[in-house]
Amino acid sequence: MITGSLKTTKSEEIFAAAQKLMPGGVSSPVRAFKSVGGQPIVFDRVKGAYVWDVDGNQYIDYVGTWGPAICGHAHPDVLKALHEALEKGTSFGAPCVLENTLAEMVIDAVPSIEMVRFVNSGTEACMSVLRLMRAFTGREKIIKFEGCYHGHADMFLVKAGSGVATLGLPDSPGVPKSTTGNTLTAPFNNLEAVKNLFEENPGEIAGVILEPVVGNAGFIPPDGGFLAGLRELTREHEALLMFDEVMTGFRIAYGGAQEKFGITPDLTTLGKVIGGGLPVGAYGGRKDIMQMVAPAGPMYQAGTLSGNPLAMTAGIKTLEILRQPGSYEYLENVTKRLADGLLQIAKETGHAACGGNISGMFGLFFTEGPVHNYEDAKKSDLQKFSRFHRGMLERGVYLAPSQFEAGFTSLAHTDEDIDRTLQAAREVMAAL
Ligand SMILES: *Cc1c(COP(=O)(O)O)cnc(C)c1O
Repeated sequence: MITGSLKTTKSEEIFAAAQKLMPGGVSSPVRAFKSVGGQPIVFDRVKGAYVWDVDGNQYIDYVGTWGPAICGHAHPDVLKALHEALEKGTSFGAPCVLENTLAEMVIDAVPSIEMVRFVNSGTEACMSVLRLMRAFTGREKIIKFEGCYHGHADMFLVKAGSGVATLGLPDSPGVPKSTTGNTLTAPFNNLEAVKNLFEENPGEIAGVILEPVVGNAGFIPPDGGFLAGLRELTREHEALLMFDEVMTGFRIAYGGAQEKFGITPDLTTLGKVIGGGLPVGAYGGRKDIMQMVAPAGPMYQAGTLSGNPLAMTAGIKTLEILRQPGSYEYLENVTKRLADGLLQIAKETGHAACGGNISGMFGLFFTEGPVHNYEDAKKSDLQKFSRFHRGMLERGVYLAPSQFEAGFTSLAHTDEDIDRTLQAAREVMAAL
């Protein structure tokens, strides 16, 4: 049973069958609703701000396929462009002009990117950029932050519990200690910790990698001065600064967090939005660094489907829609109404909560706050979040099934959708 009042018979049947076919019944873990309990609902179709499940229930969607659906699901212009591209074939494995078009758009938009390489996922972008950071600097250690997610490549899967924060112990069986031993971790928003790591490892740190606005530990923005401080420290120690903008790129501003906060890293990874719902990732940055990538330089990285014409097409169309005047103002307004509304309702109904939004990305933690890092985020009342999640689902609102995920809006979300969502939240929070 998923919920009391939703009819979900078909979802349950399909998910039961899926569990015999695929580990946990899913193709990616968080989809399985493990952290909120109950079973996932199985989607049938998506359009605009809405998703429909296989039992015919409709939901207002704040997951947006985990970020890409920023123009709204199945935007007609994107679908039309894809239909046309489809007629020319699904994969070339050779240069195509669409790659130039999307590369130019990315280079124009993102301050740090002078050259770009397309790959197929955010994971691939992050593992490739790390190889590049090491190749360029001739150093092996990196600094990442607790609670930041950079895909599932070995060297990023480091458990960063408070006591062993700098030991680099692997987070998953199968990840060798020798791989994660070079991954140093620090709490987000803690410049002092980063400074100490640089001092303890002189001349050994290739660079610092971070989500400039954290979305994978819930929504955690950088404190004033944090990004600038990292820029200064990396320069001082001749290390590279890498913004993982797989989530924030083209979401919190057209030029990403680096445009929003005015801090230019050396390298950047992208994904999600730039694929417009098809599988894409990218890494890019300073030309002198990017020139090291094969075949221009010696750092090897390749991909059979990279620069795929369908993925390039969906990305180009999505960015064309986003760069129309007013897009980000719209996202900011609609999302702020939602984020402020949720906080207000939590307050009125007597629940400790904190949160916020930047453009079309938002978060709500069931804790007094403030939340500056993952340790703070973990103080949230997870039981309460689970009940909130379930109550919202029953009322036709689809939220990410974890307290530690940011929420996403789109250009298709209307004031009326926000009103309905807030009304649902009022009912659920009053009953929590
Ligand atoms: C989603 C995400 C990734 C991984 O991207 P995939 O396409 O899922 O491999 C990496 N970094 C950040 C910040 C992400 O949000």
